[in-house]
Amino acid sequence: MTTESPLNTALVQLRGTVDKLGLSENDWQTLSTPRRVLQVAVPLRRDNGDVEMYDGYRVQYSTTRGPSKGGVRYHPDVDLDETISLAMLMTWKCALTNLPYGGAKGGIAVDPSKLSARENERLTRRYTSEILPIIGPERDIPAPDVGTDERNMAWMMDTYSVNAGFSVPSVVTGKPIVLGGSLGRTSATGDGVAIATREALRARGIDINGATVAIQGFGKVGYWTAVALENMGMKVVAVSDVNGAVTGFSSVADLWSYFLANGNLDIPGSDRLTNQELLHLDVDVLIPAALADAITGATAPGIKAKIVVEGANGPTSPLGDAILQDKGVLVVPDILANSGGVIVSYFEWVQDKQNYFWSADEVRENLSSIMMRALHEVEAVSNTKSVTWRDAALMIGVGRVAEAHHLRGLYP
Ligand code: NAD
Repeated sequence: MTTESPLNTALVQLRGTVDKLGLSENDWQTLSTPRRVLQVAVPLRRDNGDVEMYDGYRVQYSTTRGPSKGGVRYHPDVDLDETISLAMLMTWKCALTNLPYGGAKGGIAVDPSKLSARENERLTRRYTSEILPIIGPERDIPAPDVGTDERNMAWMMDTYSVNAGFSVPSVVTGKPIVLGGSLGRTSATGDGVAIATREALRARGIDINGATVAIQGFGKVGYWTAVALENMGMKVVAVSDVNGAVTGFSSVADLWSYFLANGNLDIPGSDRLTNQELLHLDVDVLIPAALADAITGATAPGIKAKIVVEGANGPTSPLGDAILQDKGVLVVPDILANSGGVIVSYFEWVQDKQNYFWSADEVRENLSSIMMRALHEVEAVSNTKSVTWRDAALMIGVGRVAEAHHLRGLYP
């Protein structure tokens, strides 16, 4: 386990946690093995009549604490190993936040920007129909991730419902509001990242007002994080997307309006940076909110931020993590920092099952209370056991899953 890859990162973290918790080799075998792995061929008829095949996946890493739950990713680099690693992270995340779920992840190795809307719909419906036997409100509940959004969730919900013969909104979360989505779900991950950032600044004794932040990734997580941080009084000084970074803009709102109108971040008056330059800015907080392995042995040495808040899943490799620790950087780990998304997905599932919908304030208050409880638990374990916040978060999450395994026992 020496190379830097998402699955390697997740397994190295799990091994360290199993050792710190003093769990047995039997526990390691159980915890390091995905429960159910499905690979499917997804044929797509392109608009020009050609048929192409895509590889699709759904991994249910754990169902020990409840139905499995996790996003669906459309990206050319999606493969089985990455999907397993993300499903594993979801398992620890749901346990850390004490949601009654296991962990799952799915995806298709496809570049959605190369699909028309109709092609995307056909691909999504066929993928849903291929994984249909193993998903459902009591089994496994998909949600959006990189490259998918509420449109995809609407098509998934419709495909599942047509097959069931009645409407089943609770089969996916992150749906449009009119189909049973929850208020506050769109911004939930970013809202949670902002809460985690605020608490990390407090823990480090840095004033929130005017604290400077750089964000890698300006998608669903990066954008809503930036909005929430500005609302809290922090200063977002740079953001990036796949084409590079930008600094010197007056506000996130201005930059977003420009991006929507022009499709790029080159707002007049701003300066371009490379993605690497963004990572190395002299800021209080760095938030990787794009893809895995942004902070590695190669990029970590140049990082000057005092705090790293992991908006993305698995953005820091074990070597990158060790370098940040040597530098005394406080890292708020992914399973804690970006848990706002699955927390409000849980609220959406609860609302769908009860056919009773909450106000935006209720969603916000309940999100804050679950995040604050998890943040306090992690900080307390970190202080009492003298471990990093990542170690503490994993110890709580993995420890709960291991305890659930022990209590349920082994069938037969
Ligand atoms: P998204 O597709 O909406 O946005 C991804 C962003 O990253 C885009 O701005 C893209 O241009 C940018 N990007 C891609 N490659 C990049 C690179 N090399 N350098 C800089 N920017 C790059 O995806 P998202 O939903 O915002 O997810 C981002 C991360 O957050 C992923 O790791 C995802 O698993 C994680 N996450 C998402 C959610 C959620 O609710 N969407 C919840 C928890 C965690």
